[in-house]
Amino acid sequence: MWITLRPGASGASLKSRLQALGLWTQPMQGHKGQIHGLRVLPHSRPVELTTLLELPEVLDVSLPPSDRPRVDAQAGEALRVGDLRIGPGAAPVLMAGPCSVESEAQIHEAAAMVARHGAAVLRGGVFKPRTSPYAFDGVGAQGLPWMRAAADAHGLKVVTEVMSQADVQEVARYADLFQIGSRNMQNYALLHAVGRAGMPVLLKRGMASPIEDWLLAGEHLLHAGASGVLFCERGLRGQEPLLRNLLDLSAVALLRHSLGQPVVVDPSHAAGRRDLIEPLSRAALAAGASGLIVEAHPDPAQARSDGPQALHEDELERIGRACEAFAQEL
Ligand code: PEP
Ligand code: MN
Repeated sequence: MWITLRPGASGASLKSRLQALGLWTQPMQGHKGQIHGLRVLPHSRPVELTTLLELPEVLDVSLPPSDRPRVDAQAGEALRVGDLRIGPGAAPVLMAGPCSVESEAQIHEAAAMVARHGAAVLRGGVFKPRTSPYAFDGVGAQGLPWMRAAADAHGLKVVTEVMSQADVQEVARYADLFQIGSRNMQNYALLHAVGRAGMPVLLKRGMASPIEDWLLAGEHLLHAGASGVLFCERGLRGQEPLLRNLLDLSAVALLRHSLGQPVVVDPSHAAGRRDLIEPLSRAALAAGASGLIVEAHPDPAQARSDGPQALHEDELERIGRACEAFAQEL
């Protein structure tokens, strides 16, 4: 927000008046060094426009054009995934399932398990981005109908990662919500192809991405035609060997409380170890997450990827109950 000073009015006097209202400002200077207005900084307290316009030093108030108008436009609204709502005003949503879809039987068992504990969305990857080229990289497109059938049998929606533009149509046939993985947050050609499918998208934050880049990646999706973007914080690359990533709950609070965006948290990829998933889930919900996406496996010891962070059924049950407790508070 930019506040223009009346000719002859004192910038210092306006600055202290605004400071008393909880607004932090920076002077806007003309080419001769004269102060002609003040720019309000983003961490200021919200204030009514009329309050500002009534101040004696103020000539006018203007809002600079946003560089992410479509993301701004979804503020305060829950995202729609069919008949499910995720975001401001809706109860927290639990998305759960294995890291990878491994077989038809495994995903059916996983769907039954997550449905028992209140999940509304089944997660699972058929195309897996693996650091090593020798690691299991998913069953491929054959797993999509398995996942759809398993989800349908238990009244669940499907979220699954799409890694390549070539797979967008096939994933769109079977999924309710696309997932863009952390490694692809800035793969703009992929974002555009996914956006053109006109569906909602869960957009993971890049593992070293500033919040602004993440929001702009969301803008790319919406500009290309996505029906909505659900932001997902999954931890940033740190230097701590005991943890896989650093979960940035400040970003979650900022997206939810300052920007009004639908945001969920993936504590599984953040922690990389199952013993921390429950406390991080509770912290995420307290920070303002509108849901959780967690990895859970019918037999974690046999998981073909991310076994150490896969929840056992009793651990998933506790997270389901945490979501319910937060829903009661709404
Ligand atoms: C996943 O959710 O399966 C995944 C690979 O996560 P991320 O993109 O956050 O690493
Ligand atoms: Mn995983």
